[in-house]
Amino acid sequence: SIKGKYGMHCAYYDDSIRQKLLDEQFILSNMKSALVNREFVVFFQPKYDLLDEKICSAEALVRWKHPERGLIPPNQFIQIFENNGFITELDLYVLEETCKWVRSWIDRGNPMIPVSVNISRADIFNSNLDAILLSLLKKYGLDPSHIHLEITESAYTENAEQMIHGIKQLKELGFVIEMDDFGSGYSSLNMLSELPIDVLKLDMRFVQNYDRSRDKRNIMSFVISLAKWMNLKVVAEGVETEEQVNLLKLLGCHWVQGFFYSKPLPLDAFETLIEQVNFSNTEYTLETAEGR
Ligand code: C2E
Ligand code: MG
Ligand code: MG
Ligand code: MG
Repeated sequence: SIKGKYGMHCAYYDDSIRQKLLDEQFILSNMKSALVNREFVVFFQPKYDLLDEKICSAEALVRWKHPERGLIPPNQFIQIFENNGFITELDLYVLEETCKWVRSWIDRGNPMIPVSVNISRADIFNSNLDAILLSLLKKYGLDPSHIHLEITESAYTENAEQMIHGIKQLKELGFVIEMDDFGSGYSSLNMLSELPIDVLKLDMRFVQNYDRSRDKRNIMSFVISLAKWMNLKVVAEGVETEEQVNLLKLLGCHWVQGFFYSKPLPLDAFETLIEQVNFSNTEYTLETAEGR
């Protein structure tokens, strides 16, 4: 009966609401101890150069390894931390872990592999960020070009002026700036002219839906051309199939990241990978990319 259907619907609705509140409460009451207990772990997803399909860099992606609940993905807690300000503590933790591992890979004789770290809006508004980043680099003997900072496009929606100022400062320190999820928001094109961006990360919705939408394919093609005219590098995110790889090669995209090549890997698996494979030397540094 209709009544029965409504009844079930309501019950389901109530349960999902309660579940959501419980999770948020769980996250809020456990986040501090989780940081102290080192329950946040950094995974690394390699990025590949499309000219030789070898690894050229990687992205650090955080997960919460809870002793009872197992691996909790970032989309369940990042937003909550962005709302309550805890995100900066977490991001600095991820940054330090990343610096530490990059240092240890160099010390073990691996070629330098730049790693990008995700940075939130709140981090950029933290007036100490520059000093903290510099002291981390010093502590681990790294150059700012070893660490790329990924800033999601939606970060620019409010206080754009202040964001632009903060990012210019990071750029002046020598960090490589990547604009994450490019094309997912509203301000993309305007921001391109305002910001000292080095790399565009094409939002995965373009790559994953181009075969169903000629417009998406055209936009993808346009963004890659635009990036080249502006002397930027382009990374396509969420590449899952060989067809996508072939199209991106055809369009002249520089780098790719996605399950087709590798999922984000826990530290030991990533280390095994970089010890076994050859690195790309076609596009090793951004400086050598000029002539492409
Ligand atoms: P993002 O920075 O855009 O990262 C890319 C996301 O796409 C990652 O999800 C990655 O696992 C996923 N991905 C990579 N290749 C594929 C693919 O071929 N197919 C599909 N369907 N997905 C793919 P993840 O690791 O769950 O992270 C989600 C988001 O959480 C990130 O999106 C980023 O915005 C945020 N995040 C992750 N780690 C951190 C962090 O340390 N700090 C901050 N502030 N945000 C983080
Ligand atoms: Mg990212
Ligand atoms: Mg992204
Ligand atoms: Mg994102």
